Order: sequence, then C-alpha cells, then structure tokens
Amino acid sequence: MEIVFATSNAHKAAEIQRLLPSSINVKTLKDIGCEEDIPETADTVEGNALQKANYVMDHYQTNCFADDTALEVDALNGEPGVYSARYAGPQRSAEDNMQLLLSKLEGKENRSARFRTVIALILEGKEYTFEGIVEGKISLEKSGSEGFGYDPIFIPNDYSVSFSEMSMEEKNSISHRGRAVRKLVEFLKNYSS
Ligand code: IMP
Repeated sequence: MEIVFATSNAHKAAEIQRLLPSSINVKTLKDIGCEEDIPETADTVEGNALQKANYVMDHYQTNCFADDTALEVDALNGEPGVYSARYAGPQRSAEDNMQLLLSKLEGKENRSARFRTVIALILEGKEYTFEGIVEGKISLEKSGSEGFGYDPIFIPNDYSVSFSEMSMEEKNSISHRGRAVRKLVEFLKNYSS
C-alpha cells in the first residue's frame, strides 16, 4: 500500500519509517514533487493535521497522512501549544524556542508538560485521526544531542534523562508520535487485511 506522508522534516520521516511495516510504502512530499508550503492555520493540532492531509488529497489525489504536534506546558496555560514551531518567531528556530520557554518558566515550580501529536489519515476518501500523548516535565537546562525541536529540555515521566539523551528507538517507544504512529499502523494493518 502506498501512502504519502505530508512532511518535509527528514527527522520525522526517519523516525516514522522505522515504525512502519515494509508492506506500507511511505512516500514523502518530495517523492510526489510537492514543494509548496502547506498551510497550517487551524487553532488545534487536530485541525492542522486535517488541513495538511486535505491539502495533499486535494492537490495530488492520493492516500495520505499528516501529523501535527504541540508541546503544552501547564504553568503557561498550555503554551506554546499549536504555536510550538514558531513560539519565538517566524524563523522557527528550535534554539530560540527553547530559550524563550526556559525564560518564561524561570522561578516557576510547576514544570509539568506534555507532547501531543495528532495524525490525520485520508484513506479512500475517508478521514481518520490518531492521537498520541507523552507526559513529562521541562528541565532547568538543555541536555543531550539527539533528536530535534524541544527534545533537549523535555524529560518524560519515569525517566531522568531528556528525549535528546535517548536513542531514536527508545524515544519512539514512549513518544507522543510513536504512540500515534502505532495507532495508525494498527489501523492500516487491520484495514488492509
Ligand atoms: P510539528 O507539528 O511536528 O511541526 O511540530 C511543532 C513543533 O514541535 C516544532 O517546533 C517541533 O520542533 C516540535 N516537535 C515536534 N515533535 C517533537 C519531538 O518529538 N520532540 C521535540 N520537539 C518536537
């Protein structure tokens, strides 16, 4: 089965590819010649994921899925939330985003947070969504060199190291996206059998 994953983020594509069985042949936006900046203007992760998947469906008439992720920090009323990618500005810099978040949390005792991913799938004209959540906390400073985005400052519950100090396999086994992807994979396996 061929499905387009609506992403241009090589890290995410690499992570997701490892979690999918070989019977599911995932193509990227590059593979289908899509170089447009797909709009993400909804105010929820679910809305953004559906918006991206529908864009690919409308323009390329193909089965596809798209994901969207938010980091929700309790002491900041859910910020950066749906604005996680451009929290510190349109330059979408992971470094700037982390610095801004750490500075906003200075002096706050409650550092609890969660990553939430929603994957929207459009298969044979029908929409489905799959959610994955990982609870954790924001560390006092960055640590580790793996991963991307907010990984160096996110410590999942029951761990003492950040996502950036884990291997990709270990992170995938507990991460928001790993959980959402496993739901997607289960669905696709059952769908094709
Ligand atoms: P997106 O929806 O995947 O584009 O992600 C939105 C924002 O969350 C971006 O700033 C990403 O860098 C960040 N993000 C998404 N997934 C992860 C993750 O697994 N670890 C750390 N940051 C992430």
